[in-house]
Amino acid sequence: SDLADGLTRRIEGLGASVSESLFEPVIRLGVTGLSRAGKTVFITSLVANLLDRGKMPALTGQSRIRAAFLQPQPDDTLPRFAYESHLADLTGQNPHWPEGTGAVSQLRLSFRVAPSGMLAGMRGMRTVHLDIVDYPGEWLLDLGLMEKSYRQWADEAFNRLAMRGGEAYLALARQTDPDQRHDEPVADALARSFTQYLQAAKAAGFSDCSPGRFLLPGEKAGSPALTFAPLPPSEAPRGSLAREMERRYDAYKREIVRPFFRDHFARIDRQVVLVDVLSAIHAGPAALEDLRQTMADILGAFRPGRASWLTSLIGGHRVERILFAATKADHLHHSQHARLSQIMQALLREAKDRADFAGAKTQALAIAALRATTEAEIPQGDSLLPAVRGRLPDGRNVALYPGELPEDPAQLLSAARRGREDWLAGDYSIMNFAPAPLALRPGDGPPHIRLDRAAEFLLGDRL
Ligand code: GDP
Repeated sequence: SDLADGLTRRIEGLGASVSESLFEPVIRLGVTGLSRAGKTVFITSLVANLLDRGKMPALTGQSRIRAAFLQPQPDDTLPRFAYESHLADLTGQNPHWPEGTGAVSQLRLSFRVAPSGMLAGMRGMRTVHLDIVDYPGEWLLDLGLMEKSYRQWADEAFNRLAMRGGEAYLALARQTDPDQRHDEPVADALARSFTQYLQAAKAAGFSDCSPGRFLLPGEKAGSPALTFAPLPPSEAPRGSLAREMERRYDAYKREIVRPFFRDHFARIDRQVVLVDVLSAIHAGPAALEDLRQTMADILGAFRPGRASWLTSLIGGHRVERILFAATKADHLHHSQHARLSQIMQALLREAKDRADFAGAKTQALAIAALRATTEAEIPQGDSLLPAVRGRLPDGRNVALYPGELPEDPAQLLSAARRGREDWLAGDYSIMNFAPAPLALRPGDGPPHIRLDRAAEFLLGDRL
């Protein structure tokens, strides 16, 4: 009877998933971006605003949403996005930023949607599920490793190490004989030193700091598949350190990168890629140039023409829309927003050219998922500087002038290639506003900038 029970349950389970996909459509929205791009704040504010909808005119203008509610997600083994505690962090008595994304998580938001079209009067309300999948952009960039051998990867890593201040690791690698017998403390010391270099490169503003799990290991921290590092070319005899490093690199690709793409990435319908463009501009030309190339790598993942292993995982499934959103637009006075949008658009256009992209519908926007500032003008001589006012973490309420973005994005990008830097100096380096205390009226979500437009592009046609 155990067997019969199990069988009945399986058939019921099958029935549920079939009827769900037939009558209750599911939209899987991927949310990604590098660490600190703003994924956690974006999802929290998006969900709060979709639940309340008072501040979503661009979406609810034509929308047929009649109700929105949270439901248990369908994937029992995936961590749930901690929406309630993140919202409490942002909107509680003493508002502060929540802890950012460290691994993949999911949340299901369901809508009751009014019927549309000619037969609208004859049809009842529909339910549409939105499954939001939050995952680190660092993991997406690991795609670039899949078709590289250990040797190719290590050679590239050494080139980068030399250009990005990796002297400490280079010195350690030079002292190490790659053909010595494998010894775990040696492997561990190399991996640690290499991770420190990646962390420093990330802190200096570089976008592509793969292997992504070295920065965000998730639950695999400390496993052999995460304990490897590049070594100079050698004979690599059996049992040697170099041979073991190569074996672990291959395990990383097979056991960590591939399953992530198969289980999460392959099922996404709509994608938002959040980009902290302002920080990259502030960090200087090398960081911006790196961001430019990284965007092409990200776009390439969504049109896996040549990457045959990925095509075979994804099958016929397609991502239909990709939004690239420059986050934290509330760091700028609104008179600068158009320039930020134009820079994001120029980056997207270049990425499309580089990635030879002809897949999903794309758009670029400048947004703030949670607006932490108000606008202010600071008198300077005869003129007024367009500034923003907010609360610093130490409690001071200050108006700061972030500097000015260039009028022509092409100018910025070509200056980045030539290595010039004089944008967003001003007070930008100390801009670290805390979320403002909120007094929300019933039905109002947290304040934002163009989050409704982001939602309209990503979901408007389905809701
Ligand atoms: P994640 O690592 O991608 O999940 O990034 P988070 O969502 O944790 O955001 C990282 C940090 O960026 C936050 O702690 C905030 O300091 C800042 N941030 C994110 N979104 C906004 C925004 O809309 N406005 C402002 N002013 N800061 C933001």
